[in-house]
Amino acid sequence: MSDKLTKTEEEWKKQLSPEQYYVTRHAGTESAFTGKYWKTKDKGTYHCVCCGAPLFSSDTKFESGTGWPSFWQPVDPSAVAENTDSSHGMVRTEARCARCDAHLGHVFPDGPAPTGQRFCMNSASLDFEKEK
Ligand SMILES: [Zn+2]
Repeated sequence: MSDKLTKTEEEWKKQLSPEQYYVTRHAGTESAFTGKYWKTKDKGTYHCVCCGAPLFSSDTKFESGTGWPSFWQPVDPSAVAENTDSSHGMVRTEARCARCDAHLGHVFPDGPAPTGQRFCMNSASLDFEKEK
């Protein structure tokens, strides 16, 4: 990912559904077990819903029981930027799309091997492309 993608709030609003806009541009969280992808088991790639950058592969998706799509690793470490998020009275690691700064979800240190990380994502931040 080289080029940063920047758009105005208005442009994002036009391009995204209200839920996608709320989650990705205002760090919202969809309700557990309501998103499109938490139980998706198809093979393919999850892209950023805002800019189309490939973020996660179905090969690293696992059943976390949380009701959100969870992965133990991004397709490329540089595709997902991590920030410290101290909102809501907790200190968490926030995951954002490195290209367009879309809020994706949070990263927790209780994932499975080999990384031990759990990328807890919002379905609303992702666009799944099924492998053909
Ligand atoms: Zn993006």
